Amino acid sequence: MLWKGRSGSSNVDDRRGISGGGLAAGGGIIGVIVLLVNFFMGGGDVSQLPEVIQGNAPQQEMSAGEKAADDERAQFVSVVLKETEDVWGKLFADKGQTYEQPTLVLFRNRVQSACGGASSASGPFYCPADHKLYIDLSFYEELKNKFQAPGDFAMAYVIAHEVGHHIQTLNGTSEKMGRLRQQVSEKEYNRYSVMMELQADFLAGVWAHHTQKMKNILEPGDIEEALNAANAIGDDRLQKQSQGEIVPDAFTHGTSQQRMYWFKKGYETGDISQGDTFSASDL
Ligand SMILES: [Zn+2]
Repeated sequence: MLWKGRSGSSNVDDRRGISGGGLAAGGGIIGVIVLLVNFFMGGGDVSQLPEVIQGNAPQQEMSAGEKAADDERAQFVSVVLKETEDVWGKLFADKGQTYEQPTLVLFRNRVQSACGGASSASGPFYCPADHKLYIDLSFYEELKNKFQAPGDFAMAYVIAHEVGHHIQTLNGTSEKMGRLRQQVSEKEYNRYSVMMELQADFLAGVWAHHTQKMKNILEPGDIEEALNAANAIGDDRLQKQSQGEIVPDAFTHGTSQQRMYWFKKGYETGDISQGDTFSASDL
């Protein structure tokens, strides 16, 4: 993606230095203390403790090189967010509506959202209750190394997917899902969750279509990077890693095949009206 030199979004809330460890704190110790205090004050959850001790405590301070790479990723994420604002702003305006831009919170190790606490292990997520996207930039490395989904556009797809959940919140789909949760069995609800996730993939594809049409910033191989990422995170990998956490995105996401199909459909059509995964019989 041709992103360098492009302007970023003004809706980034950078909490990397204050989210428990890493750069400013010089390790995970502060994170653990904050969490323990939080826990004894009744704000925590027993299941979070072993994870922090095992997962976040050995966190090393970043070298200058790592910090520079991290800052570059932060800039990239900001530019992608801006591109989503431009596309969704236009698509909403075309329908006579105003797009309410979401905030993107950059964090390191742990973060608190209106949907509960989360750690980096949960992967990026969107919280419908506060209209914010939460991303730990280490996920970029995880995509590349653990999921074998390298490339800047793989990460752009992930961001666009989370923005897709924001669109679903603005158009009332998230609220409907909340109501369904009270009404249907867990099994049934998981089925709806998959439809919801696949629609977010579709909306990511719609964004890719229009960002290319409006800005011409895709490079050869970008769509393949996104499809490869959709393929790599097609099962419940993220969910498995986020057990014990309250993360709205920690549902089943559909198979690799389904995720690629819907992203591609969004990208090829660019037509929001074709993204009704809820009525599609052939998901
Ligand atoms: Zn999702």
